[in-house]
Amino acid sequence: MSVRNSLSTLYAKCYQKCSPGLKSILSKSVFTLTDKPSVNHSNHPIGKKFPGEYKGALVITADFELGWGWCYSKGNENPSGMAQRARKNFPVLMNMFEAYRMPVTWATVGHLFLRTCTKRSHTWMHRIPYFESKNLKYDRGDWFDVDPYTDWDRAREWYGPDLIEMILNSRIAHEIGCHTFSHIDFSYTKCPPEVAEDEMKACIDAAKKWGIALKSFVFPAGTYGHFEMLKKYGFTNYRMKLNYDLTYPFVDQHGLIALPSSSSLENNGLGWSADYCIKRYKKYIDKAIQNEVLCHFWFHPSVDEWFLNNVFPHIVRYAAELRDKKLLCIETAGTVAEFVTSAQRGI
Ligand SMILES: [Zn+2]
Ligand SMILES: [Zn+2]
Repeated sequence: MSVRNSLSTLYAKCYQKCSPGLKSILSKSVFTLTDKPSVNHSNHPIGKKFPGEYKGALVITADFELGWGWCYSKGNENPSGMAQRARKNFPVLMNMFEAYRMPVTWATVGHLFLRTCTKRSHTWMHRIPYFESKNLKYDRGDWFDVDPYTDWDRAREWYGPDLIEMILNSRIAHEIGCHTFSHIDFSYTKCPPEVAEDEMKACIDAAKKWGIALKSFVFPAGTYGHFEMLKKYGFTNYRMKLNYDLTYPFVDQHGLIALPSSSSLENNGLGWSADYCIKRYKKYIDKAIQNEVLCHFWFHPSVDEWFLNNVFPHIVRYAAELRDKKLLCIETAGTVAEFVTSAQRGI
């Protein structure tokens, strides 16, 4: 492990134990005094870095999960409440992305493609054994006990065909990606291969009925694993958190493109002003352009109202302005991955 990685891990461990006040001071100090957001300069191809004549690139991925993202969460969030908030935000988000011509990659929980299901619909799927991880805990009943086994109009927290339609009917060419079928822990240690494989099959089958081929993948709650399964089922890329914030995407050992994440777009609860938040996010974009690398932001559609109204639109507008100045390429994960694959091959 490099000195940089060791320091980064040590900082993350200490940070977790701090009070919100101390976290705020620490985070602000590190951001001002160090080279944050940090840049990794490896992986650069020779020649054109991104589609078009742009310097840097921006990808925004959305973890689109409604109730599924929160049902085994240790954070005690209310799945229904989170799903309702996401639904309330959805038209606002879609309008904002249309206004600034911003394509987003919607990493969708496969169950949301369904209009209806019954208790028998998922019996063919292998079940994950009980487990506890950093963010999730599943220790009783059947994994699908949270499923209401009804239709979308009766339980809009667990199905999302109307929202999928909204994405597909948008004037913007968004991408629909994958966030597993039921927001499972996808790590090698918790998820047996047969469970991962059934989740893949269920997603691909559900998306196919909409004429969608899934290419981009986001691991639920950062539970990385089963990369070879992604390759087997036709995925080209995934999002991953690494020890730096900005870099050029790279090809992993499985031939998949890793699009490292830069930051979440969310209210971190530390009481920061909108101006300060905007300033930080702008710095990520500026540095991506200066260093000709990728900035990869992500968010939950259930993002809180304050952030949605006071911070999010400013980031999107700033990025759109830089795109219009031919400095920032704004594309979906699938498109960037496709370009990187060609660039690495020297095509
Ligand atoms: Zn179901
Ligand atoms: Zn998620």
